[in-house]
Amino acid sequence: MADVQTTNQSILVAGGGISGLTAALEAAEAGYEVVLIEKKPYLGGYVTQLYQYFPKLCPPNCGLEINFKRMRVNPRIRFFTMAEIAAISGQEGNYDVTVKIAPRYVNEKCTCCGKCADACESEIDNPFNFGMDKIKAAYLPQGFAFPMRYVLDPSIVGTEDGKKCQDACEYGAIDLDMKESTFDLKAGAIVWATGWEPYDASKVEYYGFGQNTNVVTNVMMERLADLNGPTGGKILRPSDGKEPKNIAFVQCAGSRDENHLPYCSGICCLASLKQSRYVREQYPDCEVTVFFIDIRAMDRLEDFYTMVQEDEKVRFVKSKIAHITQDEETGGLLLEGENTNTGEQIRETFDMVVLATGMVPNSIREVPAPDVSCDEYGFLTNDPDKAGIYGAGCARRPTDVASTVQDATAAALKAIQSIARR
Ligand SMILES: Cc1cc2nc3c(=O)[nH]c(=O)nc-3n(C[C@H](O)[C@H](O)[C@H](O)COP(=O)(O)OP(=O)(O)OC[C@H]3O[C@@H](n4cnc5c(N)ncnc54)[C@H](O)[C@@H]3O)c2cc1C
Repeated sequence: MADVQTTNQSILVAGGGISGLTAALEAAEAGYEVVLIEKKPYLGGYVTQLYQYFPKLCPPNCGLEINFKRMRVNPRIRFFTMAEIAAISGQEGNYDVTVKIAPRYVNEKCTCCGKCADACESEIDNPFNFGMDKIKAAYLPQGFAFPMRYVLDPSIVGTEDGKKCQDACEYGAIDLDMKESTFDLKAGAIVWATGWEPYDASKVEYYGFGQNTNVVTNVMMERLADLNGPTGGKILRPSDGKEPKNIAFVQCAGSRDENHLPYCSGICCLASLKQSRYVREQYPDCEVTVFFIDIRAMDRLEDFYTMVQEDEKVRFVKSKIAHITQDEETGGLLLEGENTNTGEQIRETFDMVVLATGMVPNSIREVPAPDVSCDEYGFLTNDPDKAGIYGAGCARRPTDVASTVQDATAAALKAIQSIARR
């Protein structure tokens, strides 16, 4: 069991994405004890899965590495991966929290030599690449994982394969007897930074996601473009591995739709503009069509939109796409809908379609917790009359990294004030 001595002067941060990391670091660097709880086996959240990020189009690991370095040198932050908050009770200045830790089956002696993976025969869908490839059931969650440590999938524990992994490890790092555990801690304030999940594209049935492998989502596209992705960074048509000749981006796939997500996620337009650049950089002849309701690119990101518009192989069609089906004649994907500028019907065929799906909050509503305020979709609203638990980043609203960092810094300050008030 973890030995965590905390007091009501400590700050708890739930979620180790960019917003949780920021809140934890800002509070710790201001002199406060911080415990950071992350559900996945590594820190960094969805930013780790982006190929490049706007506005500068740099690799996300550059920015994350700076934060990990700040963490390494700061003894005031303790973090736990594969951990979740099971329950919260109390009030501002005095919370009691129960944390649940899932077994990793690999302890801190792991040197990442990879011999467990060599010995392991079973494979699982790679969660980091959204199941587009397979990995061994003893695996490093991603190339830049922090902490850099392997994980064993529970499916091989108690099997011959699990035993093989254990025997292959020269360092005694595989512990097949690990069990789920819980521990309790105290905190004076909580930052809730559990981020978002992509909207389930299979719910937008008329777009055929899940039935046609050439219909992918925007988060999958990030992995398809990445060197560490399922195709080594080549954007290839999933059904046959061919280079696409034309790709459609369908905006608001489920968003701004009363039957799915009535709100706008704010960043999907920019994500598609960015991804159209990924395509055009790889394939000088590939045609890109963006089907949109209206493009939302505010402030300095308007320049990015203008730059993409200047590319003669990128076409923008104001429209609503009604269906995506398999075109029996060509084997491509037939998009049907209406051009809302001209009123004309759209019937066009593409090799691949990228659905711009929106962001759904990992809501605090899922956890037994004292009264906190959320909007109707589960985003925390930070009601000033309910101080003590503060939402940060995409747990509060769908947004980009720069806004998330500002928001998390503000949440850290609010958490410090909650402690100072007591
Ligand atoms: C297709 C796409 C492309 C994008 N491209 C860009 C871009 O180029 N530039 C840009 O600025 N932004 C981009 N974004 C937005 C960016 O991904 C978000 O701004 C960023 O992920 C927000 O970080 P976060 O920490 O709030 O949430 P997350 O990244 O979701 O991190 C939350 C963390 O909390 C953890 N967690 C969840 N539930 C729990 C729990 N109960 N207990 C403990 N931990 C939990 C999660 O595992 C995760 O690690 C893009 C988004 C999409 C959809």
